Amino acid sequence: KANRKFHPDDTVVEIDGQRIGNGYFGVIAGPCSVEGEEQIISIAQRAKAAGANFLRGGAFKPRTSPYSFQGLELEGLRLLKLAKEATGLPIVTELMSTKFVDEFEADVDMIQIGARNMQNFDLLKEIGKTKTPVLLKRGLSATYEEWLMSAEYIMSEGNENVILCERGIRTFETETRNTLDIQAVPVIQKLSHLPIIIDPSHAGGSAYLVPSMSKSAVMSGANGLMVEIHHDPENAWSDGQQCLNPNEFDELMAVVKQLIAIEGKH
Ligand code: PEP
Ligand code: MN
Repeated sequence: KANRKFHPDDTVVEIDGQRIGNGYFGVIAGPCSVEGEEQIISIAQRAKAAGANFLRGGAFKPRTSPYSFQGLELEGLRLLKLAKEATGLPIVTELMSTKFVDEFEADVDMIQIGARNMQNFDLLKEIGKTKTPVLLKRGLSATYEEWLMSAEYIMSEGNENVILCERGIRTFETETRNTLDIQAVPVIQKLSHLPIIIDPSHAGGSAYLVPSMSKSAVMSGANGLMVEIHHDPENAWSDGQQCLNPNEFDELMAVVKQLIAIEGKH
């Protein structure tokens, strides 16, 4: 179902009235983690003012260490809804367990499947039974074939609203958190009709890399961006080192909007 061979036209996924795919470019912005009401609402307002189309924010966090902050969980979901009420931005947030599928189906506009769960086949099949659009991140060391097969798990259950997200892969390099595989854009577009977006934040793991990689993403033909932003990156509860502050995000969006127009997208 994900294969270009049987579906020559590019897919456009509709998410709460917004579109991603083909000529539609989507920008998802927000903090790594939802930290509190004021935090998420103020960041959402800045994201919207800069021109983002979606709000991200982790409520359930897949942290490398069990002793790191694990997310506000269902309280985080409630705060995301408040931020949506305040700004109108649809919500993108990560689901880690089949336990909360019902809550996510009710409250979330696009369900994110994180890199670490890309091959959690039970979870993929469960969200395949919903109609909620899915943002499927590439696994830490997943091949294109494995990634597309994970999309197939969701689609084979009936949910064909899948968007792929390249978020950097593990290589021998240690200077950067991961290595952004920009080739993923043309390769996936050759193999599949599904939209593909780029997450430069988790790819490089450093804020200084985000502007150049975002620009590369637009020019590569990607259908969107997911960028982590925070009002006070130094004190963020997770991934502060890779978050842009709202002023930096304003500057980036001014450039990104021009490039989107050059690419003939909207
Ligand atoms: C995230 O988007 O916050 C995240 C945890 O990303 P990834 O699954 O790509 O590491
Ligand atoms: Mn993060």
